[in-house]
Amino acid sequence: MSRVRLHQTQSEALIFERSSPGKVGYQLPALDVPEVDPAALLGAGSVRDDIDGFPEVSEVEVIRHFTRLSTWNYAIDLGMYPLGSCTMKYNPRLNEAVARIEGIIDAHPYQPESLAQGMLEIQRTLEGHLAEITGMDAVTLQPAAGAHGELTGLLLVRAYLESLGDSRRVVLTPDSAHGTNPATAAIAGYRVVEIRSSERGMIDLAALEEVVDESVAALMVTNPNTVGIFESDIARVAEVLHRRGAQLYMDGANMNALVGVARPGDFGVDVMHLNLHKTFSTPHGGGGPGAGPVAVMSHLEPFLPVPRIRETPDGLRYDRDRPHSIGRVRAFYGNFGVLVRALAYILAHGGDGLRNATVDAVLNANYVRKGLEGHFDLPYDAPSMHECVFSDVRQAGKGVRTGDIAKRLIDYGFHPYTVSFPLIVRGALMIEPTETESKHELDEFIAAMQAIAEEVETDPNLVRKSPASTRTSRVDETRAARRPVVIWKDGQ
Ligand SMILES: *Cc1c(COP(=O)(O)O)cnc(C)c1O
Repeated sequence: MSRVRLHQTQSEALIFERSSPGKVGYQLPALDVPEVDPAALLGAGSVRDDIDGFPEVSEVEVIRHFTRLSTWNYAIDLGMYPLGSCTMKYNPRLNEAVARIEGIIDAHPYQPESLAQGMLEIQRTLEGHLAEITGMDAVTLQPAAGAHGELTGLLLVRAYLESLGDSRRVVLTPDSAHGTNPATAAIAGYRVVEIRSSERGMIDLAALEEVVDESVAALMVTNPNTVGIFESDIARVAEVLHRRGAQLYMDGANMNALVGVARPGDFGVDVMHLNLHKTFSTPHGGGGPGAGPVAVMSHLEPFLPVPRIRETPDGLRYDRDRPHSIGRVRAFYGNFGVLVRALAYILAHGGDGLRNATVDAVLNANYVRKGLEGHFDLPYDAPSMHECVFSDVRQAGKGVRTGDIAKRLIDYGFHPYTVSFPLIVRGALMIEPTETESKHELDEFIAAMQAIAEEVETDPNLVRKSPASTRTSRVDETRAARRPVVIWKDGQ
């Protein structure tokens, strides 16, 4: 029976298909006032005609339809979400409670500053904690996400170099970089030059020495990098860049491996972003909202976006009079609700708690790595930080690729891991359990992955055709992206 119901939820019809003429979700009492013609009263232009084909359904049908649809979504509240690079961790309910405190939820960005002192204090306190955590001198909370932070960071680098009369044209990115890094550099007007990784999956110092000259504005690097390995030469990388007048940009998406343990400001980083929605919780995925604060060393501080918070005899104020600023990068003051959640997360954990989260995240990734080492190929043998990256070369011999294994994982009740990223690993399986997961959940995940590796040996077709338990199995992903069917009407 439960299977049948599951099937029923999974085969939910479109709401248009449930429609029958004349059905409504309400019933109004008879008019007890004279009827008027709305077009005469409001003007014909203000009155909407019936919407052609609009579904006519009852209240309970609407409720059930959307509730059933909501069960199609896999979520961190439902089970493990091992998406590497995305850091999908549990979002403590405390954050939500704090974000809904009356004074916070009712605050308006046009409120006079004198009446928004609490909001300014929240921003200033968060800036302070993020500066402490990163070891950097100043922080802007404006950017709306990591990629937006990258753009802000490069604009800061450009403004700084131009102030020295030294505009440069090239930004370096390692071949393991997240796609947003080269994309950001290109959008900021730089020529992107890729540098090769060493056999250990890290920046090759010799290769770097060769390419850094007076044309290079910055190197953008993720640390730990996208194969989950700490760039142990990072201080020397910074030295090479600084010696030739270039800046070191750190993509902080992987800060979940560093918080409370190592600080980018201490190993030579000039500017970096944080993804609050990764490292400091906040529900994300499906497009947001997030927040991508940028932290800088003091030489970049004059260029930060306006406004900056300043202490005055009348309390905290926004300072807009900053002649060197690159200007605004976002309306108002950033995604405020996300900032509140991040501050709640930081304060609830405290220094020791944040450090523990980091240590647990690294421990969990290494536990998964150990459990799967005998079953999947490990392309880089360096110690893993908060995520581990396997390749599908063993399974590829049986005609099964990383995407097939990921789809099969759905049948075992887990969200797939990150597939085919980073690009330097052929057929990558990128797994990031985060600190959220208990040993019990990790053991179940490892058992599922081991069972799939076994199935690849005995019945590769089963894996290639998975998932079998979902509403749709394989779709043509290219066509779905290029020619999405967003409305279904009359069978068209
Ligand atoms: C997620 C991620 C980004 C982009 O961040 P968004 O917040 O999604 O814009 C950049 N680099 C790395 C390594 C990431 O994992």
